[in-house]
Amino acid sequence: MSAKRRTRKEKSNRRSIALERIEILFAQAARFGAFDGGSRDLSHANRCVDLARAIAMKERVRFPSSYRRLFCRNCHCYFIPSVTVQVRVYGGYVIYRCLACGAVRRYPVAHTMQRSRKEIV
Ligand SMILES: [Zn+2]
Repeated sequence: MSAKRRTRKEKSNRRSIALERIEILFAQAARFGAFDGGSRDLSHANRCVDLARAIAMKERVRFPSSYRRLFCRNCHCYFIPSVTVQVRVYGGYVIYRCLACGAVRRYPVAHTMQRSRKEIV
């Protein structure tokens, strides 16, 4: 890498390219993880996640929220409901249990839904 200082514009440009590459990698991971009649290619799907994480870390971009629940935060394996992750709704939380390492993550059910439920009761 050159010693030249990056301008702000250059930096944001690099980040948008990084985000685009992350998008492509997750689309590819979904393709590898899809059941195509034969078998799923989970190791390739996991590799896509690894590459996307490497790009995100190098360019210091945050994963878009829609991608954050697509892989395990502990072992980084690609999430496919009922294949590599168990998804349950319990006590106002959506619970993701990784079937590869057993890590559990809980996400609150969307606030708007909770509020509308309170209004009904
Ligand atoms: Zn895991």
